[in-house]
Amino acid sequence: MKSLFFPCHMCGSYDSEMLTPAYLPDGSFCKFQQIVICRRCGLVYKNPVIPELNTVSYSKISWGNGTIFKKRISSLALFLSGFFKEISPKTIMEIGPGPGWLAMSLQDLFPASKYILFEASKDVAELTKQNLPNATVIPATIGEAYINNDFADLALVCGVDYLFPDFRRAIEKIHKLLTINGYLYIERNVFVESEAYVGFPIKSYKDLFGANVLMTTWFAVDQYKQFLTLFFDIVSEKSFFHDETEGFKCIINGFLCKKKNIRSEYYDGSTSWYETNMASLRRLNKESTNPISANAKLQPVVTKLWNTFQFWRLHK
Ligand SMILES: [Zn+2]
Repeated sequence: MKSLFFPCHMCGSYDSEMLTPAYLPDGSFCKFQQIVICRRCGLVYKNPVIPELNTVSYSKISWGNGTIFKKRISSLALFLSGFFKEISPKTIMEIGPGPGWLAMSLQDLFPASKYILFEASKDVAELTKQNLPNATVIPATIGEAYINNDFADLALVCGVDYLFPDFRRAIEKIHKLLTINGYLYIERNVFVESEAYVGFPIKSYKDLFGANVLMTTWFAVDQYKQFLTLFFDIVSEKSFFHDETEGFKCIINGFLCKKKNIRSEYYDGSTSWYETNMASLRRLNKESTNPISANAKLQPVVTKLWNTFQFWRLHK
């Protein structure tokens, strides 16, 4: 069985301790995969990662969207177009575009750009292609794709990097794929201190680590910025309030980054987030009181989003 075992993605250390066994899609504990914290820098990550055991896959109904995403995506498209109006990117690459809403908005603003979209789910990729008939849609993960270096002027990675099975290698690949003056826009709402994911609050280890068994990395927000600076200069930041459930807020943090042209090394560990991250984790219940599986928990949210998205598609 294909299994990946890593040193810490941030500092390269193998010195880690287990927080909990990882969760499987049915909500039970995995016998092999663990969620660990790096003792040196405090990164929380899944190790080893066994992709075959984490079989939640995204389908056409996984996204939905619509009203809930529409406002955010148009605000993000405006933010990006404001920044790139002087330097119109020739090639725009998006990893994990879902149905392609962001690329659709950008196409209106940069009609001359070439769009290359990597969507791992073949089902979803069909929808992406329907929505963006002029784009190149590749039904593959970034890990599977064979691409030359120095090819994209702008890479977009929105809400997917925490799903990369081999997180560090995927970020290295994105860095290599960018042209010498290339930019990355990356955003996520998956952090050690996150209060909520889209649609539900995080109250336990199971909520944080088991909500989507494809997740592999949890940084503190500050720590994530430090990680990005190994590869990029952060030129602008944006955070979006996504939604709130029972008073728990879902915040998405976005970073616009310019490629650094020096080879990235591991973080030197001069600051450690170990204590901060352990403090964030202590607010959570370790034992889950609710044995609902990850799939069952996501399903009502997913269905709601999908219905809203259909409504938006029909009425936009
Ligand atoms: Zn580390």
